[in-house]
Amino acid sequence: MTSRPVHRAWILRCRRAVERCARLFAVPAENPELIRSQSAALSTQIPLLYFILVTNSVALALTHLHSAPMWMTVWAPGALCGFCIVRLFWWRRIRNVEVDTATHLRRLRLTLRLVPVLGVLFTAWGFNLYQYGDAYAQAHVAFYMAITVIGCIFCLMHLRGAALMLAAIVILPFAVFFSLTGNLVFMLMAANLLLVWVAMIFVLLVHYRDFARLVESTVTLRLRQAETQRLSDENFRLANLDSLTGLPNRRAFLAHIDSMASAADSNSAIRPKGASPIVIGLIDLDDFKLVNDAYGHSTGDRVLAEVGRRLLDFSTNPVFFARLGGDEFGMLLRENLSTDELMARGRVLCRLLQQPYELGDLTLRLTASVGFAASDGPVERPELLFEQADHALYYAKQNARGEPVIFSHTHESERRRMGLIEQALAHADLEHELTVAFQPIVELPNHRILGFEALARWTHERLGEVPPAEFIACAERSNRILVVSEVLLKKALAEARRWPDDTWVSFNLSARDIGSPEATQRIADIVLASGVPPHRIEMEITETALVSDFDLASESLRLLKQLGVRIALDDFGTGFSSLTYVHRLPLDKIKIDRSFVSDIVHNATGQSVVKSIVDLCRNLDLDCVVEGAEDEEQVRILHELGCRKMQGYLFGKPMAGDAACALLSRETIQAA
Ligand code: C2E
Ligand code: CA
Ligand code: CA
Repeated sequence: MTSRPVHRAWILRCRRAVERCARLFAVPAENPELIRSQSAALSTQIPLLYFILVTNSVALALTHLHSAPMWMTVWAPGALCGFCIVRLFWWRRIRNVEVDTATHLRRLRLTLRLVPVLGVLFTAWGFNLYQYGDAYAQAHVAFYMAITVIGCIFCLMHLRGAALMLAAIVILPFAVFFSLTGNLVFMLMAANLLLVWVAMIFVLLVHYRDFARLVESTVTLRLRQAETQRLSDENFRLANLDSLTGLPNRRAFLAHIDSMASAADSNSAIRPKGASPIVIGLIDLDDFKLVNDAYGHSTGDRVLAEVGRRLLDFSTNPVFFARLGGDEFGMLLRENLSTDELMARGRVLCRLLQQPYELGDLTLRLTASVGFAASDGPVERPELLFEQADHALYYAKQNARGEPVIFSHTHESERRRMGLIEQALAHADLEHELTVAFQPIVELPNHRILGFEALARWTHERLGEVPPAEFIACAERSNRILVVSEVLLKKALAEARRWPDDTWVSFNLSARDIGSPEATQRIADIVLASGVPPHRIEMEITETALVSDFDLASESLRLLKQLGVRIALDDFGTGFSSLTYVHRLPLDKIKIDRSFVSDIVHNATGQSVVKSIVDLCRNLDLDCVVEGAEDEEQVRILHELGCRKMQGYLFGKPMAGDAACALLSRETIQAA
């Protein structure tokens, strides 16, 4: 009963041993890299093998030329050596030819089959020659067989199966043959060769194993390198990609400009004159902050993702789009476009981004402004082209929202002027150079002065009188505005202290003044230190001032309101004009922008806008002042529409503090 399992275990063990043995002689078909390496090694070693075989065989044939028959010394070795020479040249020819793994495998298998055949033929030839020669010639046969087989085995080191077969085919018969000769020298040679054979097989097996491992580790190393490369490519891709929109990011955009600029540079010699090799476009969504404020950041993100999708759809081969951050996108073009063509392209882009954004139940409408700068010569300073596009965008934002603007010579001089103003502002003695003008705000029908709006004036020794619209904008681009506002507010309040108790002063705050708690606190401190009761002070803010951070801005206004200061929303009707503001801000007053007044006599739409704002103010219990009243006819219509408080050149242009005081005292005398 027990003999059966033992028997089966033996069979199993034998089968495993046979399998292991078969593996020793097989070509590793499952390992393409090993096959290629084996084939490469053999392609240099096998020609050497044939060379050894041919030269040794020719030498042996020569020593037997007169003792052995012709077929044994000329025809048989000639045929064998001829075959070897053909194979030698074949291997040399194919040595550097790129082939696939299957071809390499075929070569190895053919070699594996040829080695035993040649081994048998050459061994048989050697044994056959032994009978014809004298003792020296016989010793030559023994030497020939021993030395040739060792040489050939070394050449076949990388094809383990072939080397083992050759060793078995030549050395074992050699040992038996020479042991049977009865000659002590030959018998010892046979024993000697057997020992060498054992050592050689050991070396062969170890060498082949190390070779296979080396190939394996090279493959692993290569795979690891490929993986490392893949990961680093992926990292590079992600580092250059904006995850929200899937567009390239700012880093990729700047790198692309640089590479385009250097390419354009090298092509400049062959470029036709007047062509525009590089166009930078900067796209900015108008009032996008309001979307975030009103509907939350996730809605804002969905809008941005949709913008990204539209830009990608719009993107054709020469156009490169990127998201530069926030709601700003960049565009790079490498096309020879005329100004008109570029404007047309920009308009198409603006229309594309103006399409309604359908976000589930919500439909949003947005506009986008675009600033273009085109280079018509080699781009030596790509950052300058970027700045020009930025300036064109700034211009579009100020003057042509929702439209494209191409940077032109006019913009260039404007940009230069802004640079000059910025520099002059940075070094100006603001305490002395800044003054405040006051423009009366009156009440109808008796034109009584209710208060004055304080308007900044700056006279620079070189630039002369710089309009506030210009220098305030410049100061806002740098942090200089905080100092400017402080100086102006102190001066305005110092004048207001001289006025009657019921006359208030209205001061314009910039976005930065209410953009941080510290800045607002400085304003509050000046108000408290001025000696003017806060209820006589009004702060005007524009919608654009609120756009950058609505929550922070409204928090700042609340702080000022707590002091007793009143808050007016300036230039109402020109910006986003969302009712959200009116509801969510601690407002006391709305100032209707003068653009509605300038053509109110002939413009029915303007009249109805003014009427609806006046009604809105009445409903919400807000004060209302209309700006820009220049003639009696306008005032008559505005009065009919319900406006009672007005400001404009008709009632008084901005004037110096003393003139304002004089006007007030004249009014007091008249009233008395
Ligand atoms: P704003 O706040 O809308 O000021 C009113 C502007 O309209 C003033 O221009 C004023 O001179 C002008 N104006 C008043 N009545 C009429 C009129 O009947 N017709 C016409 N065509 N214009 C009239 P100004 O003084 O050049 O100021 C321009 C802008 O500069 C201001 O517009 C305001 O946004 C800004 N600004 C002025 N002073 C300051 C200031 O102290 N701080 C800040 N942050 N901004 C200021
Ligand atoms: Ca104002
Ligand atoms: Ca205004």
